[in-house]
Amino acid sequence: MATQKMLKFVNLGREMPEKRSADERSEDFHEIYREFADAKATEQASRCSQCGVPYCQSHCPLHNNIPDWLRLTAEGRLKEAYLVSQFTNTFPEICGRICPQDRLCEGNCVIEQSGHGTVTIGAIEKYITDTAWEEGWIEPIRPAEERGESIGIIGAGPGGLAAADRLRRMGFQVTVYDRHDRSGGLLIYGIPGFKLEKNIVERRNAQLEEGGVEFVLNCNVGEDLSFDAIRGKHDAVLIATGVYKTRDLDIDNANAQGVIRALDYLTASNRIDLGDEIPDYADGELDAKGKRVLVIGGGDTAMDCVRTAIRQGAKSVKCLYRRDRANMPGSQREVQNAEEEGVEFVWLSAPGSFVGAVEGETGRDTDINDEQAAISAVRVQKMRLGKPDVSGRQSPELIDGADYDEPAEMVIKALGFEPEELPRLWGVEGLEVTRWGTVKADFRSHQTSLAGVFAVGDIVRGASLVVWAIRDGREAADSIAEFLGASAQVAAE
Ligand code: FAD
Ligand code: SF4
Ligand code: SF4
Repeated sequence: MATQKMLKFVNLGREMPEKRSADERSEDFHEIYREFADAKATEQASRCSQCGVPYCQSHCPLHNNIPDWLRLTAEGRLKEAYLVSQFTNTFPEICGRICPQDRLCEGNCVIEQSGHGTVTIGAIEKYITDTAWEEGWIEPIRPAEERGESIGIIGAGPGGLAAADRLRRMGFQVTVYDRHDRSGGLLIYGIPGFKLEKNIVERRNAQLEEGGVEFVLNCNVGEDLSFDAIRGKHDAVLIATGVYKTRDLDIDNANAQGVIRALDYLTASNRIDLGDEIPDYADGELDAKGKRVLVIGGGDTAMDCVRTAIRQGAKSVKCLYRRDRANMPGSQREVQNAEEEGVEFVWLSAPGSFVGAVEGETGRDTDINDEQAAISAVRVQKMRLGKPDVSGRQSPELIDGADYDEPAEMVIKALGFEPEELPRLWGVEGLEVTRWGTVKADFRSHQTSLAGVFAVGDIVRGASLVVWAIRDGREAADSIAEFLGASAQVAAE
């Protein structure tokens, strides 16, 4: 029986693919995990207990059929495993690399509750699709029949691209607009190569392009082309623009010299990784080499910044977070990776002010109030955790008189992102937004308040995850097809 190959968790321990040593990986921007050897993937997949009610699956936003592709992998039927896996996920090799599995599928794997480590679901998902690419099992996109209707997608991140893939497979004419010069959104310019190497994203871009998706890059909608022009050109429009307004520090001189925004920093580093020339990197502004770096924030973006600074050759890298380790939003796995690479976490700490290298009247460094002055330190305020707020999280409270100066030549603000004001930026009436500024869209159909206009991903959810953007994009593609089918029927009657 097929399941005889399974249930090996009792005797077989959990093993991730080999992680490169911290010293080795700190020198480059390559991914930190090596690929599973074939035998190891088979072995690790066989640990699954084939649960009748698989909690891993119900906690995967795509409801991936995890037990089935684990069983097929354990049986060496990799091509079938790939076919099952790609049926529910447009970019399985990307999710396998960067989903926070400890909070999603693996975090709910039942064998962990019986004291055995979780099945390494993400690593096996990555392995299956990486193998499919190597073996040539991934077919080009060839629609069975072409359809006349066209869809304009604004934003080439995972949400927009997942929708583009699905709509094109149905035969629709798809054009994707993006203000960047490359497609991929945060997959290409946000997330660093040590989590997701750039060629993994580029080969998906190429697949879409070869499959007939048209890309209009360097096109900032609202500036280079109006939203109304796009609406007039296409039968349906999908907004997938993500969230890019950086939250700032509520302190004087939040923009002093040496204080930079996380996404400017990460984008420059990713561009260097892709071979671009970046003047602000070349002149040292966005290069951490030789500097004492302080990153402010405790989310995934902060983790990516600290680990990028290590790879750029920073003298020291510290992460300042106002809550403690247990209450940080970033993945614990990433904290561990960062610590291994030499990052120091300073918990329960927040920046109070910046201290400048300008000489004050006393001849000592002083609080700076000139945006041109370079910082030399951050005055750090110590915090403690108080009562839980309405969300249930304990609020940080200031401890009086516990301030100290932490030397730093570079401070990176990684405090999160908010949506840009699309209705105002695009001069579009009737596009409803929530009180947080995200676009209002039905959670199932993704239809906005404008007929034929849909929205997905971070611009609807607020800063979220790649896997949720993919799910939204796939669902919106089906809704758009339904909308266009209904429109075509009305036109024919
Ligand atoms: P995006 O990926 O943001 O793509 C939006 C696209 O729209 C961009 O290409 C942008 O250029 C384009 N655009 C915006 N406005 C316009 C306009 N006016 N005209 C034309 N184009 C426009 N998630 C994970 O699951 N795992 C991780 O490890 C992870 N790490 C992250 C690290 C960082 C540094 C950041 C910032 C986020 C991370 N995330 C991670 C979150 C994840 O990247 C996002 O949730 C996801 O990319 C959202 O997808 P999206 O398609 O909605 O938007
Ligand atoms: Fe887990 Fe993400 Fe893959 Fe779902 S898509 S199985 S959550 S790694
Ligand atoms: Fe297998 Fe764990 Fe999912 Fe159960 S919860 S089916 S053991 S991966």
